Amino acid sequence: MVNIGFIGIGQMGTWMSTHLLEAGYEVTVYDTNQEASNALKAKGALVAASVAELGRKNEVVITMLPNSKIVESVVAGPGGLLGAMNAGTMIIDMSSSYVLSTEQLAKQAQAAGVTFIDAPVSGGVKGAKAGTLTIMVGAEEDAYMKALPILQRMGKAIKLVGKTGAGHALKAINNYLSAASMYATTEAMLLAKKLGINLEVALETINQSSGQSFSTHYKFPTFVLPRTFNSGFSLDLLLKDVKMVTAIAKDTKVPILLASIVEQIYEAASITGGKNQDHTEIIKFLEKLSDFSIED
Ligand code: NAD
Repeated sequence: MVNIGFIGIGQMGTWMSTHLLEAGYEVTVYDTNQEASNALKAKGALVAASVAELGRKNEVVITMLPNSKIVESVVAGPGGLLGAMNAGTMIIDMSSSYVLSTEQLAKQAQAAGVTFIDAPVSGGVKGAKAGTLTIMVGAEEDAYMKALPILQRMGKAIKLVGKTGAGHALKAINNYLSAASMYATTEAMLLAKKLGINLEVALETINQSSGQSFSTHYKFPTFVLPRTFNSGFSLDLLLKDVKMVTAIAKDTKVPILLASIVEQIYEAASITGGKNQDHTEIIKFLEKLSDFSIED
């Protein structure tokens, strides 16, 4: 069994690295938040004092970090992985990162003799905890086969979707759809409420009709109606995904009209509602705009 390094022990990484430990891998973790690393130490992980130390001793390193800028600094910045890892090793970036940055990092890694592949995930904290994530891999076939046994410990539906970068591209596209559908559901539910329709009845009916989605089946009944807003996926991380879609559409000259509006909506919600919101709190933005709440 290869030794695995895991960088980014947050909402998702905590559970993903726990599954690797439970599968019997030797796992070394690193996070700028010492408390996060210590929680994994208690489960049997080793804790590295730096990214470079982690890179030197592991054959496979997984990153599960907030965004591409941070992935770039951890992989290719001063004291980063590429200056420390041995030739023939592999980095798997499971964060939701920007495709052009990923392609650039893969080139830099190749020059250092390291394989860099992308394997972002869908399924949220619930899927991370259960080990049932969908994993979208961008890689050459041989690198994919090498990573597969490790990925199978964290996910159920694992798909090779194209060459390096393709996983990150598809993940951003998926989350654009998810953001648009979440916001459309929010508008629809507010309108239904205004028209005097009970929202539990509305959701039950829609879930047997053509308007159904992951938002109507899962997010609304679980996090919005009870107003717990604890999906574990922040509004700013979702906004990051939508911004990646509008940026790549601009770079590739594809008109993507609705995505630009969705981006503006989540941007405004982020500004008015603050940095620490869950993405399901998008309803609060619309409630403020309309001076009406689904609780009324
Ligand atoms: P998070 O903010 O909970 O975790 C990120 C972790 O990275 C934190 O523990 C943070 O301390 C650590 N970190 C930040 N900078 C670092 C650095 N320079 N070196 C080492 N550690 C550093 O985020 P999350 O919700 O776990 O998401 C991680 C990634 O997964 C993101 O790219 C996100 O878009 C994606 N994602 C999240 C979800 C979800 O439901 N939360 C679902 C799918 C994909």
